[in-house]
Amino acid sequence: MPESAAASGLDWTDLLLAPAALLTERIVEIADGIWQCRCENRHDTDGFAPCSEAGEIVPPELGPRWDSHTYLCLGCWRMIDADTLEVVGRASQDAINRNLDCSWETV
Ligand SMILES: [Zn+2]
Repeated sequence: MPESAAASGLDWTDLLLAPAALLTERIVEIADGIWQCRCENRHDTDGFAPCSEAGEIVPPELGPRWDSHTYLCLGCWRMIDADTLEVVGRASQDAINRNLDCSWETV
């Protein structure tokens, strides 16, 4: 599906005023609290999980270690800031491997 400027929430004037904003990827909130990633993953498909700054999943029982605003797309490993919906990066290969193994750091 092609991504239009409208779908990303940008007005064309934003493109004139803030070229740097083009470098910032965002995911789309299709309904209140329901996200759709750039890879088209949504809450009801692969879903999203809380993650560390390295992109490593933070299991619920380790909740206190979570920074409370970074989520990981389980479809493409993009890391998302829950406050701004900005894509803040991608999980490192190391973190991805641990996520796939479910062998998260437990201390
Ligand atoms: Zn994704």
